[in-house]
Amino acid sequence: KPVVAIVGRPNVGKSTIFNRVVGERVSIVEDTPGVTRDRIYSSAEWLNHDFNIIDTGGIDIGDEPFLEQIRQQAEVAIDEADVIIFMTNGREGVTSADEHVAKILFKSNKPVVLAVNKVDNPEMRNQIYDFYSLGFGEPFPISGSHGLGLGDLLDAAAEHFDKREIEDYGEEVIKFSLIGRPNVGKSSLVNSLLGEERVIVSDVAGTTRDAVDTPYKYDGQEYVIIDTAGMRKKGKVYESTEKYSVLRALRAIERSDVVLVLIDGEEGIIDQDKKIAGYAHEAGRAVIIVVNKWDAVEKDEKTMDKFEKSIRAHFQFLDYAPVVFVSALTKKRIHTLLPVINMASENHSMRVQSSILNEVVMDAVAMNPTPTENGRRLKIFYATQVAVKPPTFVVFVNEPELMHFSYERFLENRIREAFGFEGTPIRLIARARK
Ligand code: GDP
Repeated sequence: KPVVAIVGRPNVGKSTIFNRVVGERVSIVEDTPGVTRDRIYSSAEWLNHDFNIIDTGGIDIGDEPFLEQIRQQAEVAIDEADVIIFMTNGREGVTSADEHVAKILFKSNKPVVLAVNKVDNPEMRNQIYDFYSLGFGEPFPISGSHGLGLGDLLDAAAEHFDKREIEDYGEEVIKFSLIGRPNVGKSSLVNSLLGEERVIVSDVAGTTRDAVDTPYKYDGQEYVIIDTAGMRKKGKVYESTEKYSVLRALRAIERSDVVLVLIDGEEGIIDQDKKIAGYAHEAGRAVIIVVNKWDAVEKDEKTMDKFEKSIRAHFQFLDYAPVVFVSALTKKRIHTLLPVINMASENHSMRVQSSILNEVVMDAVAMNPTPTENGRRLKIFYATQVAVKPPTFVVFVNEPELMHFSYERFLENRIREAFGFEGTPIRLIARARK
């Protein structure tokens, strides 16, 4: 999906526009920790365009001076986006901070669409001509608070979507990413998987998407490690901010089939680990929990069991995810990883036969009667798989409201056990039979 980033000095209304564009999307709320609040990144739709949008204003850069913060936010946009919406404020006119942003964006060669916000009524429209001086062509007047002009602005942004390079690795290729907080050992693990000290990754600005990924082949199976460059590229100040690393992880998750959630065996589980794992789960990717730095852990024969128990307690929503212990440094147990990746990927795209599925569901119902409410009982007529990646099932019922979360969970588990959906989330959708 194309990525659009909103850039501009503070108080021009970036987050208002972000929220307008994103709309009232309700995301899946489960026991996933803290995923929906405080958003700077979301999927969105405009006409028949599906894209992702970033509010760079939400990435707080710390105590840097004002202009430095603006610069870093603009650089995030340049690094991460296919199209940049440069936002200014029509009530205040062109400011020197706007000119500062313009200069940075100008050098990037990324497509930029200029928006002049807070143009709340037609009379204000002739104030926008000053903004031609920023050098990005026609300014688009919009009003975040009134929701005006957004259509034309998004049309202009969407014109650039088709021009970007489309990545296409083919169905048989397993795409996986490694995510986790800084220093957990992501790039070390990539190196030891690839069996060489240094991976040469082209990091030239303007190269295709593919250049940030590393394709390789092992034992006849093709893999692509997604966003290898993002794991290795270190040094820019904003890369150490949590929101930025989460943003980067989100984008990698989106492009992956299988996500390896790395945990530092030495330091244990922290909140950020949960948050990142929560995204992978929400996105419906296959998930493997990888405990790295196992060499550095003092252990006896019970340590691994104990660690796994603590993972299970912290990541209840990932009860399907296998746990693998490795050391990227000594390469011990590294060979156990690929077979688990293969297995999770296979299950993630598994299709099951409707006849067997319905036997499983009916057996489950016989074992544990469907819930009732106000004297009405849930009736299940038929189940069918409608999608893979992740496996998604529609269950036709009398009244979908009667399908309670706990019963859904029960059915999910029965289906999971019967077919062996290890490593992948599965989804159940209750629909009224027509
Ligand atoms: P990244 O930020 O997640 O990419 O982490 P790096 O791969 O750069 O690793 C961060 C630090 O942890 C480096 O000093 C590595 O040498 C160290 N490290 C990585 N993997 C292991 C491991 O398996 N065992 C030990 N003891 N140290 C490791």
